[in-house]
Amino acid sequence: MIDASTFRLDGKLALVTGSSAGIGLALARGLAQAGATVVLNGRDAAKLEATRAQLAAEGLRVHASAFDVTDAAQAETAVAAIEAGIAPVEILVNNAGIQRRGAFHEFATNDWADIMRTNVDSLFIVGQAVARRMVTRRRGRIINIASVQSELGRPGIAPYAASKGAVKMLTKGMAIDLGPHGITVNGLGPGYFKTELTAKLVADETFSGWLINRTPSRRWGEVDELAPACVFLASDAAAFVNGHILYVDGGVTATL
Ligand code: NDP
Repeated sequence: MIDASTFRLDGKLALVTGSSAGIGLALARGLAQAGATVVLNGRDAAKLEATRAQLAAEGLRVHASAFDVTDAAQAETAVAAIEAGIAPVEILVNNAGIQRRGAFHEFATNDWADIMRTNVDSLFIVGQAVARRMVTRRRGRIINIASVQSELGRPGIAPYAASKGAVKMLTKGMAIDLGPHGITVNGLGPGYFKTELTAKLVADETFSGWLINRTPSRRWGEVDELAPACVFLASDAAAFVNGHILYVDGGVTATL
């Protein structure tokens, strides 16, 4: 029996990393609009509090937990505090991520390390802190934010593309290991969306022209268009969807 409750998240707590801005903020808003209580995250506590206040003013149930997703001790402390102070984390969205661009042979070692720490290590760090607790409860949903860049070779983004390739395979591996414990792990793969992360590309008319021509839907994505797919993956409707990467990309991956 399918009704509106199939897609509702009432009574569930979701932790969305990197949700003080951009895609994470849109996903957090969507999950909260679907009924979840949402814990927002980012490193900048003031920015995070401003976002929390904004969503609270929209009538949504939101909390804030400022921590760095690349720091295992901070993540463990934060997850323990959320579970003790609010509720068990039933939905984890591993969204925090960064992008740096440059030719492979000129790429700074520090930038490589930052990308890998933020985009890949964080899934292991926050994912493990939450999954260990989900395993004891025998339920949970983990959604990792992937990217079309794991499929699409482009100049100047080799480290970022490699990090998202790792996200893709980590998602599948996590699904295989956590599935027997009642947990699903899926990826949500955005195409090109206008956020801080892509601000320079949006301003670059040559790139924007290429992108619009390359995308069957002939436009950039709006971040709010990602939220329904995230709600779906977190909801009862997706109970048997596991280890899948759902691309929301205006058809970019269909052309590969
Ligand atoms: P933004 O730069 O707009 O936002 C990034 C968010 O992550 C901010 O809230 C930031 O807050 C937080 N963040 C960054 N580093 C950390 C950290 N170490 N610990 C905790 N929070 C952190 O990025 P987008 O919204 O564009 O990207 C979000 C995700 O979507 C990323 O994984 C990205 O790779 C992916 N993606 C984006 C696409 C796009 O077109 N925009 C396309 C495909 C994938 P603070 O700085 O305060 O920590």
